[in-house]
Amino acid sequence: MIDFQLTKEHQEIVEKYRDFTERWIVPNRMKYDEIAEFPWDIVKAAYDEKVINGSLPVKYGGNGFNIFESGLASEEFGYGCTGIGICIDASTLALTPTLIAATEEQKKRIYGEIMEKKAVAAYALTEPNAGSDVQGIKTTAIKKGDKYILNGHKRFITNGDVAEYITVFALVDPERGSRSLTTFMVKADSPGITMVSRLNKMGQRASVQNEIKFEDVEVPEENRLGNEGYGFIIAMRTFDRTRTCVAAAAVGNARAAFDHSREWAKNRVQFGAPITALQGVSFMLADMATKIEASKMLVWRAAWAYDNNQKDFSKLSAMSKYLATDMAMKVTTDAVQVMGGEGYSKDHPVEKMMRDAKLSQIYEGTNQVNRLVVSKQILK
Ligand SMILES: Cc1cc2nc3c(=O)[nH]c(=O)nc-3n(C[C@H](O)[C@H](O)[C@H](O)COP(=O)(O)OP(=O)(O)OC[C@H]3O[C@@H](n4cnc5c(N)ncnc54)[C@H](O)[C@@H]3O)c2cc1C
Repeated sequence: MIDFQLTKEHQEIVEKYRDFTERWIVPNRMKYDEIAEFPWDIVKAAYDEKVINGSLPVKYGGNGFNIFESGLASEEFGYGCTGIGICIDASTLALTPTLIAATEEQKKRIYGEIMEKKAVAAYALTEPNAGSDVQGIKTTAIKKGDKYILNGHKRFITNGDVAEYITVFALVDPERGSRSLTTFMVKADSPGITMVSRLNKMGQRASVQNEIKFEDVEVPEENRLGNEGYGFIIAMRTFDRTRTCVAAAAVGNARAAFDHSREWAKNRVQFGAPITALQGVSFMLADMATKIEASKMLVWRAAWAYDNNQKDFSKLSAMSKYLATDMAMKVTTDAVQVMGGEGYSKDHPVEKMMRDAKLSQIYEGTNQVNRLVVSKQILK
C-alpha cells in the first residue's frame, strides 16, 4: 500500500526543524550571506535544540534518523537557507564515513568529542587535480610504525577551517593508485595542517570552504576508517546516502522561492489587475509548483529505496540529486522573473536563493557526474 501521508513522528520532525528554521535561520540568512562567516551562534543553537547530527545513533547523542527522516530535516533547513543548512549538513557528510566504516571504539571516541565540544567536521575528498575524477587523488598517507604520514593538498573543503575533525581520503600506496585510497579521521589541529585560503563565492555564502595543505601530518592508525584500500567504496557509499539530502534541501530552497514570489505576485498590480491574472505569470507559477512536487516525490522514493535496502538506491539517489537541484535552479530563476526588478534586488530573498541554487548543481558530484551514475546503471 502506497501512502504519501507523513506519520505523526515524521510530522514532528518537520515541525521541529521548521520551527528552528523560522527562529534561527530565516532572520539571519541575509546577514550571513552578506558577511560570509560561519554561523557559529546558529550551529550552537542547533546543538542546544538537538537539530544537528540527526543521522548519528541515539546512543551517541544523535537522532538516529534514516535517510527519509534526514531528508525531511534537510528540506526544512533548505527552506530557510541552503548556505546555513550546509554548515550543519556538511558535518553530517563528513561523519557519514564513520557510520559506514567506524568501529564502536572509534564512534564512541569521535562522536563523544564532537558532541561535547558542539563541533563540526569537514569532508576532504576534492583536490586541485581531482574533482569529478576521484581517481586523480594524489594525497598520500604512508604507514610508518603505528602512524600514517599524510602529505597532499585538498581544495573546496566545506567547514575546513572551523572543523574539529577532517575526514581525509588519501593513497596508502601511490603505485596502486585509487585502489589504495583509504579514509582517515584527522584532528584538524594536528601539526602540519595549513588552511591556505578561503573561497570567495557566489552563493551559500554562510558556509566556508578552504584549500588545505597537509605536510607530514601524523595520523594514528586508530583513526583509519575500515581497511586500507576501502576509501573509494566509502566515498561512493557516502554519496549514496547524502545526495538525497542535498536534493531535499534543494526542494526546500525552491519551495521558499516559490512561496515568496507567489505572495508578492498576488499583490502586484499591472494593467489594472494582480499579475497573477496574467496567464504568462500564473502558468509560470503552476510549472514551479508542479516541478517542486515532482522532485519531492523522487526524493522520497530515493530515500525509501535506501532505507529499505532496494538494489537501485544508488541510481535513485543520483537521479533525485540532479532532478531536484536542476529544478531548484529553474524555480529560483523563475521566482526572480515573476517579481521583475524587485526580484533582482536584495530587498527580497529570491536573488540569494537563485545564487544558492547554483552551487547545489556542482557539489556532491556535479549534475553531469550524477547523470553518468544513472546512465551507467540504466545501460549496463
Ligand atoms: C562551494 C563548494 C563546496 C564544496 N565542498 C566540498 C567538500 O566539502 N568536500 C569535497 O571534497 N569537495 C567539495 N567541493 C568540491 C566539489 O565536489 C567539486 O567542485 C565537484 O566535484 C566538481 O569538481 P571540479 O570543481 O574540479 O570540476 P571538474 O571535475 O573540473 O569539472 C568541470 C566540468 O566538467 C564536467 N565533467 C567532469 N567530468 C565529467 C564527465 N565524466 N562527464 C561529463 N562532464 C564532466 C563537470 O560536470 C563540470 O561541468 C565543493 C565545491 C564547491 C564549489
